[in-house]
Amino acid sequence: HHDHEETVGIDRIKIGDVMIVKPGEKIAMDGIVAVGASSVDQASVTGESIPVDKVPGDRVFAGTINQYGAMEVEVTHLAADNTIAKITHMVEEAQAHKAPTQVFTERFGRYYTPIVMSLAAVVAVIPPLALGAPPAEWLHRALVLLVVACPCSLIISTPVALVSAIGNAAKSGVLVKGGAYLEAAGSLSVFAFDKTGTLTTGRPEVTDVISLNGLEENDILAITAAVESRSEHPVAQAIIRAAKDKGIEVPKVAEFQAVPGSGAYARLGEELYFVGSWKFFEERLLPLEAKPDILHLEESGKTVVFVATESRLIGAVALADKVRPQAGEAVKSLRRLGLKHIVMLTGDNEPTAGLVAAGVGVDAFHAELLPEDKVELMINLKRRYGGVAMVGDGVNDAPALAVATVGIAMGVAGSDVALETADIALMSDDITKLAYTVDLSRRTMRVIKQNIAFSLAAVAVLTIATLSGYLNLTLGIIGHEGSALAVIFNGMRLLKR
Ligand code: ADP
Ligand code: MG
Repeated sequence: HHDHEETVGIDRIKIGDVMIVKPGEKIAMDGIVAVGASSVDQASVTGESIPVDKVPGDRVFAGTINQYGAMEVEVTHLAADNTIAKITHMVEEAQAHKAPTQVFTERFGRYYTPIVMSLAAVVAVIPPLALGAPPAEWLHRALVLLVVACPCSLIISTPVALVSAIGNAAKSGVLVKGGAYLEAAGSLSVFAFDKTGTLTTGRPEVTDVISLNGLEENDILAITAAVESRSEHPVAQAIIRAAKDKGIEVPKVAEFQAVPGSGAYARLGEELYFVGSWKFFEERLLPLEAKPDILHLEESGKTVVFVATESRLIGAVALADKVRPQAGEAVKSLRRLGLKHIVMLTGDNEPTAGLVAAGVGVDAFHAELLPEDKVELMINLKRRYGGVAMVGDGVNDAPALAVATVGIAMGVAGSDVALETADIALMSDDITKLAYTVDLSRRTMRVIKQNIAFSLAAVAVLTIATLSGYLNLTLGIIGHEGSALAVIFNGMRLLKR
C-alpha cells in the first residue's frame, strides 16, 4: 500500500500506512516521520506551547498541528488508540472558558451560602431565647428560610440560558466553543474579514498561464502544480486542478516549505522552485528583474502568482475567485446591528483587494499583508475600538484569530489550525450567520440579566415573607420551585430560532 495516494477515513488506516501531512493540517494518527521536515504544535497533547521540530525518525501525535512543512508519516497506532488525549484536552478547554456571568454566580454562592446558614441559625435561636417567642414556630420559620433562600434559580440562571443559546447556534451551524465567546460576541465593535476563502468562495479558477522565459505554458503549469502539490492553500488547489484538467503529468517534489500569506517553495530535481505573490519575491530578495507587466490582470480582480527558480523568473499564473453571493448581505446586516467598523484584511494584491472590498461594501481594506501584519492590525483595532472579531479560514489567519476578541473560522473552507484556534466556527461557511450570532448573543445577555434580577427579587420577597411569618413550608417550596421553573422557561426561550 505504498504505491498510490488516496483520502481515507481514519478507521481504515492501518499500522504501517504512510500519511501525507500538509501545512496547517492536523495530524490524523500517531506515527513516525518518514520523509520531509517541519515543526509541529503539540499543545493539544503535551501542553507545550512552542512548536517542536520534526525530522525523519521523530514521533508525531494524533491531534497535533503541523506548521509550515510537508511530511510523510508512517502510522504507528490505530485510530482507537490515540483519541483519548484529544478528548481530555477538549473537556479541559471547555471548562476553562466559563462565561464571566457564570463565574460571578459561582463566586456569589461561596459567600451567600454561609450567610444564609448563619441567618437561619439566628432566626431559630435568638427570638425564642431573647424575646421568649415560641421555639417551634421560629424553628419552622428557620427551616422555611433555608428552603426559600437557597439560590437555585440564581445558580441556574446563566447556564440554562447559555446552554439553550449554544444549542440554538449549533442547530444553525454555528459552533460556539464556550459561554465566554457567546457573551463576548454581543459587545463587539469591529468585524475584520479575511478575503480569500472567507469573503470569496476560496475556489479560484486558473484563467491565464504566462511564460516569461521561453518555457512552454504547460511546463510552467506542471512545475507550479508540482510545488503546490504539497500545499493546502486554495490557490494551490486551483493550480493542481488546472494541471489535472489539462492532463499534465505533475512531477514529484522534495523539501517542500510553505510561507503562509506569501507562497511556497520546493526542490524539483536540481532546482529550487518558488511560487507566490510578487511581495514574496521582493521579501526573499531574489535577484529578479522588474515586475512583469501584469497590472491589467490584477485590475480585473485576478490574483497573480509568480514562478521562479533561485535566479530567474519563469512564469506566472493568474486566478479568478468569486465573491461569496451572501458576502454583501452579511456585511450589511452587521452594519444594521450597529457594528462601528468593518474591514477586510488580505495577503492578496492591492487592485484585486480593492475590487472585492468595493463589491462587498466594507468600510476599509488592507492588502499585501503577511500573517504578522494581520496580528498587528488586530491589536491596533482592539486598542482603537474595543471588541474585535476576526473571520478567517487560512493557516495565515490563525495568529490573527488567536489575538482577536472573538476568532471565527470557516468550517468547510477553513484549515485545521484556523478551526482549532478559533472560538466560533461557521460549520456551513455561511457568513450571514455572523449577524445572527451577534444578535443571539445580545438576546442571551438580556435573558441572563432578566434571570438574575428575577432570581434575586424572588429570594428577597420569599425571605421577607418567611421572616414575617406569611409563608409555611408548602408555600415556601411552591414559591422556590416556581421561581426556578420560571428561570428555566425563560432561558429555554433561547432555543427558539
Ligand atoms: P488571504 O489573506 O486573502 O486569505 P493569503 O494570505 O492566504 O490570502 O495569500 C496571500 C497571497 O499570497 C495570495 O494571493 C498568493 O498570491 C500568495 N500565496 C500564499 N500561499 C500561496 C501558495 N501556496 N501558492 C501560491 N501563492 C500563494
Ligand atoms: Mg484566507
